[in-house]
Amino acid sequence: MSTVTIPTAETGEASDGARPVYRRVLLKVSGEVLMGEQKFGIDIDTLGAVASDIGEVVAQGVQVCLVIGGGNIFRGLSMAGKGMERASADYMGMLATVMNALAMQSALERIGVHTRVQSAIPMDAICEPYIRRRALRHLEKGRVVIFAAGLGAPFFTTDTPAALRAAEMGCDALLKGTSVDGVYTADPKKDASAERYDRLSYLEVLAQDLRVMDASAISLMRDNAIPIIVFSIKERGAFLNVLTGAGVHTVIAHERHAKD
Ligand code: UDP
Repeated sequence: MSTVTIPTAETGEASDGARPVYRRVLLKVSGEVLMGEQKFGIDIDTLGAVASDIGEVVAQGVQVCLVIGGGNIFRGLSMAGKGMERASADYMGMLATVMNALAMQSALERIGVHTRVQSAIPMDAICEPYIRRRALRHLEKGRVVIFAAGLGAPFFTTDTPAALRAAEMGCDALLKGTSVDGVYTADPKKDASAERYDRLSYLEVLAQDLRVMDASAISLMRDNAIPIIVFSIKERGAFLNVLTGAGVHTVIAHERHAKD
């Protein structure tokens, strides 16, 4: 009889089975992914493709939280670099994440996936305010909860709110969907000799300054023993694939001990 390796949610290790091994996850998608081939804004086909990948995962019974960045519309730091007051620029960045959240909500609902948007900055006319217990209830009912407006505070990117919400929602994993299929020794777009890591510890990422996510986000995931899985959201079907332990990705988790 063949045995199937079922990973624990803590290690996030690969499985031989085809079913997702996580009960509840948070997917962080950078705003830039939504641009597709465009230089700015939202490419409707790319938006639809990401939504359909999320729908595939929801159909498998996985509870999904979403945090979408805003870099495709506005990034506070770059405007601050041109002289705008940093806090104001960051608030504009947070508003950009609300726009992306509404766009994704619409794309998901179009394919029959139920959603709620909750914003860290209350905007009663367009979405719910962030209420932790209400968000948990939505997840239990199978709705995708999209967390918008980051932390509601400037001087952060959306990495830290993604980690915070993952911890608050009791997620089994934080998935970072980017345009690269994992963490590399160097930028694979610039250096052909760059090699992808299969697995890293939180401390290795921090000590080597690998810039996968903001250090505050990595530390929060380390404190809560929530694995971070980095994969390419540009590859269709990769979200579900990665949740079954297959596909190309890098897992960031606690260091392995001899007995593991
Ligand atoms: N932002 C912020 N506080 C937060 C989350 C986001 O000030 O808690 C602002 C910040 O200016 C950031 C922008 O929103 O640059 C967009 O988010 P991010 O840069 O993370 O977008 P991504 O790179 O993921 O597309």
